[in-house]
Amino acid sequence: MCISFSSLTFSFSSNFSAVDYLRLFPIDPPEFSFSGARAHLIVYSFVKSRKMIQINTVSQSKLSQPKKNQSKKDWMQKSSSQMTCRICSSDTSLLLDLGASPPANSLKESADKFQESYSLVTDICDKCGNVQLRYCLNEEALYTDYFYVTPSSTTLSKHYQYLQDFLKKNDFISRNSFVLEIGSNVGNFLDFIKPQVAQVLGIDPAANICQLASQRGIKTICDFFDYQASVKIKEEFGRPNAIVTRHCFAHNANPHAILDGVTNLIDETGVLVIENAYLLNTIKNNEFDQIYHEHMFYYSIRSMQHLLSLHGMHLVDLLMSPIHGGSIVFVATKKSSAHAISPTVHKYMEAESLALTPSAYADFVENTFEIKKTLSTLVADLIAKDKKIYTYGATAKGNTLLNFVGLTSHEIQYCVDSTASKQGRYLPKSNIQIISEEEAQQNPPDYFLLTAWNYKDEIIRKVRQVGNHTSKFIVPVPSIHIL
Ligand SMILES: [Zn+2]
Repeated sequence: MCISFSSLTFSFSSNFSAVDYLRLFPIDPPEFSFSGARAHLIVYSFVKSRKMIQINTVSQSKLSQPKKNQSKKDWMQKSSSQMTCRICSSDTSLLLDLGASPPANSLKESADKFQESYSLVTDICDKCGNVQLRYCLNEEALYTDYFYVTPSSTTLSKHYQYLQDFLKKNDFISRNSFVLEIGSNVGNFLDFIKPQVAQVLGIDPAANICQLASQRGIKTICDFFDYQASVKIKEEFGRPNAIVTRHCFAHNANPHAILDGVTNLIDETGVLVIENAYLLNTIKNNEFDQIYHEHMFYYSIRSMQHLLSLHGMHLVDLLMSPIHGGSIVFVATKKSSAHAISPTVHKYMEAESLALTPSAYADFVENTFEIKKTLSTLVADLIAKDKKIYTYGATAKGNTLLNFVGLTSHEIQYCVDSTASKQGRYLPKSNIQIISEEEAQQNPPDYFLLTAWNYKDEIIRKVRQVGNHTSKFIVPVPSIHIL
């Protein structure tokens, strides 16, 4: 049987595909063998003791280049163990177990639709400092019914300006630049910087999202980015001067495949700009809800530098940003590049090594369980007093929070979200229906649980501006507090 994962195609002698098994046996998969992988090789391990499947895909064409890809082949073989670092292949140890949760961006069409849950466990590697999900879902499980559309918000527009100014000031982009964005979504960032550069191009795997981008005039290739995609891009469009990837580099179980594509595409003058949630902020601010199946890695400067070094690259600059609860922008070039290394790299790296200590990780885990206990008690108390609670933001992080704490439609009446395509659907597992801001305004709750706390100021301003001066806001991190 044949199944397609975007550009990847597999053939199996079995009557079921791997995806079928994921759907049929999400909790206790049976042993089975397959043969006849055709264009690509799929490596997966059934981890009965952990009740989960791990799937990694590796391009067959890359395996046929042993010299260049020896390390990746080793990585692939070793990664069949669920407790192996997917950056450096060392053994990992448990950081935090959040139980089982459905893919956080898979919104349901009806309340009674069954939604599978998968283990949400993060491990840490002592050798390179990498924090990663123990079990990674394959792309099809994650991106079927994918509803994340980059919102249009004043917070984001300000951030785009901040990022653009940084890139221009440091000569990472110029008027003559060709900018490629990996995971470009509906093209908001490319649309923003388009007037400042010569050419923009996006690549994104979600067909519905690519269509929306193309409709607004942002040329977007519908595919996953890897070595093969980079070959096609180079042939058709030439070498980009800057490759940008914002909040999606960690969405791939195999970052080596992305970097193979990047190093094939850029020359010695080119830069790679990776914007991502920053592990130090996640740990410091108890942002455990940043953990969900799409986020397969939680990058620090240390782990990113280690990963880049395996591909002949290094960091030349860093930028910190408050967006999404504290993000970091890594700027990297080939080691052979003439770009000077900013003193910022050393400064932040030193600060990170002083802050990301074993006791900081221990506090993070303890505080995570404290938030669960406090929020659970608070909600129970409010319900006992007949208070009405909605969540604000049908976000992935919100689903992690709700499912970890165990809050459902029994406690929370509605979830409010401004994205039209989400409205009328239901949050996975918690079964809370999503309504528009207008509907919430007609029947406001006593409390909004801010599941989009990264847009806290903007949300509170919006709610007050439409005349709601009574609803209070429960903010879940860094500790439960009410505004
Ligand atoms: Zn490692």
